[in-house]
Amino acid sequence: MPRSLTPSPPPPAAPAHVRRAVDSDRRRTSASAILRSVLEHGPVARSTVARLTGLSPASVTDYCGRFAALGLIREAPLPRRPNGVGRPHQPVDLDDSRFVVGGVHVAVPYTTVALLDLRGRVVAERRLRHDGTEPGRVLANAAEGLGALLAGAPGRTPLGVGVAAGGWVDRDSGTVVEHPLLGWRDVAVREAVGARTGLPVHVDGHARALVNAERLFGRARGSRSVLHLFVGNVVDAAFATHDEVHYGPRSQAGAIAHLPLAGGTEPCGCGRTGCLQAELSERTLCRRARAEGVADTVNPMHVVGAAAGGDPVAVRLLLERARLVGRAAALLLDVLNPDTVVVTEVGVAHREDCLAALREEVGGERAAAVVPTSFPDSALAVAGGSVALDVLYRDPLGTPPGPT
Ligand SMILES: [Zn+2]
Repeated sequence: MPRSLTPSPPPPAAPAHVRRAVDSDRRRTSASAILRSVLEHGPVARSTVARLTGLSPASVTDYCGRFAALGLIREAPLPRRPNGVGRPHQPVDLDDSRFVVGGVHVAVPYTTVALLDLRGRVVAERRLRHDGTEPGRVLANAAEGLGALLAGAPGRTPLGVGVAAGGWVDRDSGTVVEHPLLGWRDVAVREAVGARTGLPVHVDGHARALVNAERLFGRARGSRSVLHLFVGNVVDAAFATHDEVHYGPRSQAGAIAHLPLAGGTEPCGCGRTGCLQAELSERTLCRRARAEGVADTVNPMHVVGAAAGGDPVAVRLLLERARLVGRAAALLLDVLNPDTVVVTEVGVAHREDCLAALREEVGGERAAAVVPTSFPDSALAVAGGSVALDVLYRDPLGTPPGPT
């Protein structure tokens, strides 16, 4: 006797707290999709946003009303109609005149502080050289620097602060767990910067911050999966699929500093030879440039400058580095197979021949998937601010407006 002939009773209704959680997730997802659609396509008619997001026109109108009330979007001028026939749709666009986020990027020799508008554009930027790397002092200087930038931008309201750093950064706790080059360990960055600015603070690793910047404002818009390879003094990577950045336990994903690079000769602090970070760091580039008489410098842009001035040794050093970066990119492509690989490296960002050398090393059809950073002159400022902008675009109605 088959038991399935009697209709099974309806499943019990989910408890109220589960329904509320599901509803709140759905609201957040809808709000995020609508605001990002306005960011990418604005000025854009609400009906177009409804079509692009698959949400109902009524729902889009409702969310747009709330965004407008918060000052995140505004009505854009009506498009001109050649014949004046039919009622045109009043488009909406981001209101990029009111709000900013603060961005802090802590690098080895200096901190970059910046203000970014809602389009991820740098409104103001300042570089603060470290006076020692004691964390309390570095972060106090950063907060003070942000305060000075805000004082110089009257009429702009800060929504929050994003802090990006290399090394091992735990986003959930807002902590730099370990940054060997700075000598930082378990530094409670969110608390320290929050206490000094009075603003909500978000903290993330800079490779992940830049992957989000590329997704929201750069070349990786629309890519289903994107890998960001950051090659500075720190070398690390971040990977996102369908807008979700991979974190791993305590945000440890992306640590590639000690991957071995075939053909590498540079001794590493870990005791081995040819680790990615030792081989590719800007310190190594500058040391080689000094040893070969290119420039007496610790600034990789001086090597790029010498190459632009026609110094063949500088060109060779940059091309060699670009090929090694290509080898690293090929390795990561093999493992993760992303649609797009974004590389942040000074030579590749500024020189066509370096990009070509990198792509040649990657080889085949995959080479075209590798693109240089969308932010060649502002990567550090954009990295910091994007940590906060990513939070805003993920949950536009969950971000309280700035201090009143
Ligand atoms: Zn190593």
